[in-house]
Amino acid sequence: MTTLTGRQARTISGYVLKLLEYPRWFIDREVDFTDCHHQGRFTAGDARCEHCDFGAACRWLNQNRDEPTPATPLPELLNALQTAVRYVREDSAETSCHPRRCDCDACEWLHEASAFLRTHRHRT
Ligand SMILES: [Zn+2]
Repeated sequence: MTTLTGRQARTISGYVLKLLEYPRWFIDREVDFTDCHHQGRFTAGDARCEHCDFGAACRWLNQNRDEPTPATPLPELLNALQTAVRYVREDSAETSCHPRRCDCDACEWLHEASAFLRTHRHRT
């Protein structure tokens, strides 16, 4: 197990940035803005946004639609990743049946992202 140095920390941010690409695409595909009166712009405090079926995903998408820069603080990236893992996991559990050793994109991503989050938690 390697230790965290400044150089590796940058590599870790780069890795999280890469991991965040999949949920951005996935959530963008899942969320349906056809009936949205804000045209997909999440509005905090709006009752319709709070009760929307896509509320959590939409909020995430609005916060993470633009690719984060390498200057984004790591805790912020990890937080976004954690939320994305929760969303993708719930969504894929609901929409289809995944066997224990499933190799679809969602399962592979979940596997990689949760392994990364687990490892990272142990190091901090
Ligand atoms: Zn799967």
